[in-house]
Formats: sequence, C-alpha cells, structure tokens
Amino acid sequence: MDKMSLIGWALYALAAIASAVFFFTVYGVDVEIGPIFVWSFGLLIGFWIFQAFFPSEDVKSQIEIDRISRDLDKRLEERDPEAYQAKMHKRSLSAIYGATKPEVICPHCSAKGHVRVKAGVAKDRTQETGVGALIAPTRITERKVQNAYCDNCKMTWQV
Ligand SMILES: [Zn+2]
Repeated sequence: MDKMSLIGWALYALAAIASAVFFFTVYGVDVEIGPIFVWSFGLLIGFWIFQAFFPSEDVKSQIEIDRISRDLDKRLEERDPEAYQAKMHKRSLSAIYGATKPEVICPHCSAKGHVRVKAGVAKDRTQETGVGALIAPTRITERKVQNAYCDNCKMTWQV
C-alpha cells in the first residue's frame, strides 16, 4: 500500500476494472477458468509495473537517499581508498554482528564500547543411541545464541 502513489493506485484500479469489463464482453458471463487465470496473472504483473512507474513519496525519497549515499561512497573511494575499505569493512561487520554496544566490555581485551552482539542460531549435532540411532543416527538441534565480535581485538565468540 505504501509503495505506490495514490495516482498509481487509481490508474491501477481503472486498468483492473477496464480489463475485467473487456474480459466479460469478450468471453461472456460464464467465462472459463483459463481467461480468468490469465487476467489474474495480468493483474499481478500490472501491479509490479504500476509500482515501478508510480512510486510513493516514501519510495522516491528512499531511492534519493540510496543515490546520495552511493555517490558519497564513490567519492570516498576515489579520494581515500583506504578509508573506503575501512567503511565497507565496518558496514559488513554491522550486517553480520549488528551495531556496537556502548556498554559492553570485551572479555578478551577488556575494551569497552567495541563489542557487537547479534542474535543467531547455532546447530548442535548429537549422536543418537538405542532405537533412535536406527531412525536417525545424528540429531541436529538448533539453539538461539548471541554472536559477539570485538572491533578492537577482532575476536568472535558466543554469549
Ligand atoms: Zn576485544
């Protein structure tokens, strides 16, 4: 709903009604499943096309923000490749381990404010014994963990 502008929605609704009227005039009221399927498929495709041509203000400003940030990245890459690498590295760390927590102290280097913590899933393999082993010799259990990384000493661990 919030991805398409009002004009887009209005035109899309018009196109949907017009195509429905067209289908009923061409195929009659007892229209078969084939044309209805084609029509629904057209509605779905049409929705994506209208969304691309009539983006909402939110989407437009997000596109603008992305463009500016790409521009800044490019300029930084040309001016200071090292700083650019560092920025990209930081960004990928954020994606994997989340933002740094200012209050957390690293258990490895004791530095404060460099630790990133993010929830993840760990898989444990356990060997089954007895009857269970006949059905599935290894059992994989998943448990929720907190993955941590320290920007200062580059250690990774689980909390
Ligand atoms: Zn550390």
